[in-house]
Amino acid sequence: MFEFSLNKSSGPAAPRLGEIVTARGVVPTPAFMPVGTYGTVKTLTPEELRAMGAGIILSNMYHLYLRPGVEAVAQLGGLHRFMHWDGPILTDSGGFQVFSLAPFRKVSDAGVTFRSHLDGSSHFLDPEKVVALQEALGVDLMICLDECPGYPAPEDEVRRAAARTLEWARRSRAARKNPEAALFPVVQGGMLPELRREQAQALRELNFDGYALGGLSVGEDKELTWEMVAATTPELPQDKPRYLMGVGTPEDLVAGVALGVDMFDCVLPTRNARNGMAFTNGGRVVIKNAAYALDPGPLDDACDCYTCRNYSRGYLRHLYVSREILAFRLLTFHNLYYYLDLMVKMRQAIAADRFAAFRREFHQNRLNGGKASG
Ligand SMILES: [Zn+2]
Repeated sequence: MFEFSLNKSSGPAAPRLGEIVTARGVVPTPAFMPVGTYGTVKTLTPEELRAMGAGIILSNMYHLYLRPGVEAVAQLGGLHRFMHWDGPILTDSGGFQVFSLAPFRKVSDAGVTFRSHLDGSSHFLDPEKVVALQEALGVDLMICLDECPGYPAPEDEVRRAAARTLEWARRSRAARKNPEAALFPVVQGGMLPELRREQAQALRELNFDGYALGGLSVGEDKELTWEMVAATTPELPQDKPRYLMGVGTPEDLVAGVALGVDMFDCVLPTRNARNGMAFTNGGRVVIKNAAYALDPGPLDDACDCYTCRNYSRGYLRHLYVSREILAFRLLTFHNLYYYLDLMVKMRQAIAADRFAAFRREFHQNRLNGGKASG
């Protein structure tokens, strides 16, 4: 079961409020999906994710396919059972990983042959197999295999990849066997707004459950990212969710929501936590800085997460420089809470018709280091 209800919208590329309804739970949108690439959101248990308000998580078909293998996950009860998460799961098809991680790959209209970045073994994936593998994992939202051109890339290459991605979306749709799991195609088109519009229109005709925007945040300037998103969202059906893949600083989430994006994922809150960086209402905090050695204050004055309620910056710095595992857990806890709370605040602002004011305050707080509450 998969349904999307759009509860509020003020235009084709404007902030929206909605709800994704699946058999495993209802997710209010705009939503952020914590990333659990290998079937775990690093350092946290599913109970901890739930407690901080996560409603849906993302995992990665490519990584699970290579290790431990989709068959192994299926034998152990499917991905939800395997990782003990009973909420909705979206899996990325692995298109991006094949193009960014595999040491060797050869793409044809048939599919993609590549070598594993783990052990050099050779593999072949095509759109049909990628749908079948995600169905075998038992996930709630599946993504079609796509071809993600590099950046910058010659225009003919970008056009060829977009045409192939469109054809692969058709094949994925035909290959689908489980109507319970939603299927999203990926809108590609490089940095060519006209091509992105065409792709979105063609995919719209195919009537998918939702639409992903891919091939962005691959090294281009931010203005270009948003120009591409702004070119795409008005061409997509209003009553289907839009998912912007892998783009996600806090500033990006706010900019994406402003253009009518409903779903986000990004490794930044979890990865940066493990590198000692916290996202706060006042901007970024690098916890190892000596300035925090005797700081009794919380990571973020405006945050009421478990970490901020109980621990000082001085203690977190001590844990981090001592390479204590708790440092990674506490920083991950805060960063994800911050992201999920940011989504809550944006949804509240949209509901109250004050998103523009929220956005101004968000940026003002960062300029003031979080001291002015606005
Ligand atoms: Zn916090």
